[in-house]
Amino acid sequence: AKNVVEFRNLKTHFHTSDGIVKAVDDVSFSIREGETLCVVGESGCGKSVTAMSLMRLIETPPGKIAGGEILFEGKDILKMSKRDMSLIRGNEISIIFQEPMSSLNPVLTIGEQITEPIILHLLMNRKEARLKAIELINLVGIPRAEKIYDSFPHELSGGMRQRIMIAIALSCNPKLLIADEPTTALDVTIQAQILDLMREIKNKMNTSIMLITHDLGVVAEMADYVVVMYAGKVIEEAPVLELFKEPKHPYTQGLLKAKPIINQEKDRLYSIPGQVPNPVDLEDNCHFHARCEFCMDICKAKQPPFRSLANGEHKVACWLYEEEREVQ
Ligand code: SF4
Ligand code: MG
Repeated sequence: AKNVVEFRNLKTHFHTSDGIVKAVDDVSFSIREGETLCVVGESGCGKSVTAMSLMRLIETPPGKIAGGEILFEGKDILKMSKRDMSLIRGNEISIIFQEPMSSLNPVLTIGEQITEPIILHLLMNRKEARLKAIELINLVGIPRAEKIYDSFPHELSGGMRQRIMIAIALSCNPKLLIADEPTTALDVTIQAQILDLMREIKNKMNTSIMLITHDLGVVAEMADYVVVMYAGKVIEEAPVLELFKEPKHPYTQGLLKAKPIINQEKDRLYSIPGQVPNPVDLEDNCHFHARCEFCMDICKAKQPPFRSLANGEHKVACWLYEEEREVQ
C-alpha cells in the first residue's frame, strides 16, 4: 500500500526555562493507506507531540518544529500556508482525543456540531448536511439518530460522546484518522465497543488510522503496524505480529514482559525498573541505557542508528543488533 503520511527526521522542540526539551527528536516513519499504525510508549515519550505536529498544532512558543518534513500524500505539511492547512485539518486528516467532553461544545447540539464541518468542507446545504449527519450517527452505532441529533453533549454518556466525536471526525471522509488515547477515559466494555467501531470503519471506509496508546492490549487488537517511542525517539518499528512474537529492543521486551498494574495512575500501567531520563539533558547516546540490562560501553557513548534488520520490515535502534543489519 502507498504511504499516506511520511514523517522524515521530524524534530519538535519545546523551549522551557530549564532548557530545550526535544520532545520529538529525529523521528521517521510512515502511515500506509488503509492500515492502522499504533504509536506506543509511556506518557511523555513524544507520541502525542508527533500527532500534534502533523496537525500543525505546534505553531506557537514554547513549541517549535525544529527540523524535518511531514509529507501528506507527498506534500510537506510543514510548508503549507495556514489556509491550505485549514482545508486539510478536519477534512482530510481528523483527530479524536481522550476526553470527548472537552472537545464537544456544551452549548451546541450534536447535530450542529456534526453538520458544521460538513457545511464548511463538503459545501452541502443545511438539509443535505442534516441527512449526512443522521447517516453518520447511525454509522457509529447510536440508535434513534434523529433524537440524538437534537440533543446536547451532557445528555449523552461518555461512550456515546466518543462515538459522536468519531462521527464528526469521519464527517468529511478523511484519509487519515488520528486517535490519541481514544478509549483511556472509558470503562472496559465501552472501550471494546469503541475499538470495534474503529476497526469496522477502517474496513468499510479504507481510512488509515494513527492510534496513539500506552496500552499494549489495544495495540494487539488494533494495529497492523507498530512504532515504539521512547524519550522522543522511535526505537522500534515492526508489523504487529512480528513485534509481539519477536520484540528486539530491550525496552519493547520489557513492555511486553511487564504485567499491567491495575488501579495505578494511568501513565504507569507497565513497570520497568528505572526512570525515563530527564528530557532536558538528553545526551547523544542510547536514552534507555540507564535502564537496560544489556548496556555496553558503546551505548553510553553513541546513539544507536535506527535501521532495518536483515529479516525485512523490522527496524530497531539498538547496538545489540549491528550484525543482523540489512546490507545497505
Ligand atoms: Fe540497551 Fe545498548 Fe540497546 Fe540501548 S543500545 S537498548 S543500552 S543494548
Ligand atoms: Mg498523550
